[in-house]
Amino acid sequence: MRTVTQRMADKYQEFTKSAVGKFLVPKLGLPNPPKLRRYRPGEPPLAGPALVGAAPGGRLEKTLAKQIGAAGIDLLSEPGGDDTRYGALVFDATGIKDPAQLRELHRFYQPVVRKVAPSARVVVLGTPPELVEGRERVAQRALEGFTRSVGKELKRGATAQLVYVAEGAEEATESTIRFLLSAKSAFVGGQVIRVGTGGVTTATAPENWDTPLAGKTALVTGASRGIGAAIAETLARDGAHVVALDIPAQGADLSQVANRIGGSALQLDITADDAPAKLAEYLSERHDGVDVVVHNAGITRDKTLGNLTDQAWDAVLGVNLVSQLAVNDKLMADKVLNTGGRIIGVSSMAGIAGNVGQTNYAASKAGVIGMVDDTAPKIAEYGGTINAVAPGFIETQMTAAVPIMIREFGRRLSALSQGGLPVDVAETIAWYANPGSAAVNGNVVRVCGQAFLGA
Ligand code: NAD
Repeated sequence: MRTVTQRMADKYQEFTKSAVGKFLVPKLGLPNPPKLRRYRPGEPPLAGPALVGAAPGGRLEKTLAKQIGAAGIDLLSEPGGDDTRYGALVFDATGIKDPAQLRELHRFYQPVVRKVAPSARVVVLGTPPELVEGRERVAQRALEGFTRSVGKELKRGATAQLVYVAEGAEEATESTIRFLLSAKSAFVGGQVIRVGTGGVTTATAPENWDTPLAGKTALVTGASRGIGAAIAETLARDGAHVVALDIPAQGADLSQVANRIGGSALQLDITADDAPAKLAEYLSERHDGVDVVVHNAGITRDKTLGNLTDQAWDAVLGVNLVSQLAVNDKLMADKVLNTGGRIIGVSSMAGIAGNVGQTNYAASKAGVIGMVDDTAPKIAEYGGTINAVAPGFIETQMTAAVPIMIREFGRRLSALSQGGLPVDVAETIAWYANPGSAAVNGNVVRVCGQAFLGA
């Protein structure tokens, strides 16, 4: 069996690395997908030191230096020599209170932006615009356009993100900084992340950042293959006992995944009327409740609206949204979701941008974003969080079945000009699940290589 971390063949990317490809690609101005650095235990988080700067009056610079140092990253507070290749360029923009001060971004980034290492990270930190007023609000909102544009200009696998940190949540950004300044965020590009805006501004760091989920139980639906299997593997790597769930027809593959990661296999159709009750019983009797719930199971039944049957509508909405709401309600009402528990949804770029032939799928995936919005304040009362990922083009059996031209567009129409791997989605979910992410609530982060669609 192909393991989920192996890449489905991207023949074009292989061609660009061949002798003919190396000659033709630049001559014809064709996309040149870079090889992305991905997490391997024991390797340094970044391919070079992090340069950290701040606009005058910023409130994050000191905390940032501490957090970056603790992550084992070399830190520079002044630009290095001409041959320095930066692993990250991090700027605290919280001191910017007026659009005139946006010039500080140019001052910091312009001289060094061309000196970044492969798969480098640009991270800008600001104050959530909705929490401030007047010119400060305008200036802070402006950071989005800057960061997303930098992300589109960067080359060789480098990415850019904006993190809005609420006042008081400075210390609670560590898990986010560690995720962004590492190879774990390889396929996350041009995203805006909010920390401390969802009701909680504090977080307790895990005892061991390599096994942050030690002692925790995680439920992953649709875990027998594809993205779900990668999520199960990644959460198990982080120390969780994983309950891998899938439909009975997937039983053999499901057992293989569960055995490989030392987890449990649970055969259940999540759309069955009694599924929430069965799940609640299973998790409370065998596992003392559940700490992390990942709603990954999802299906497509694509047809343009005029040809779409009501069965195809109901099937997609049932698996991708309605059953998830029923499970959440039951697990929260019966307190099977433990205090501080995490719910993580899997939306899609289609849920943000819409897609031909996917009115049902896009409605369900936009609904997942609605589920995050509605549940975030409620779950915060229990110290928990709900967030979602919105994958773009990910190399799985689902996308291998897409017609070749559409597949090529899906891969190339992004800043990284390639598809992501299931593990890229899984790493983002592991960041949400980390105990250190207690102040990350109500976010929807795309894992799309900064796709040009729906951006
Ligand atoms: P996949 O089809 O390979 O896996 C989905 C799994 O869900 C399967 O194992 C399936 O048996 C299971 N499942 C379906 N109905 C179920 C039910 N009623 N009860 C329990 N399990 C059920 O798909 P994938 O590509 O790995 O996608 C995983 C998730 O990511 C889905 O929610 C999908 O919509 C989303 N997604 C995928 C992509 C992509 O590019 N592959 C992009 C955006 C979003």
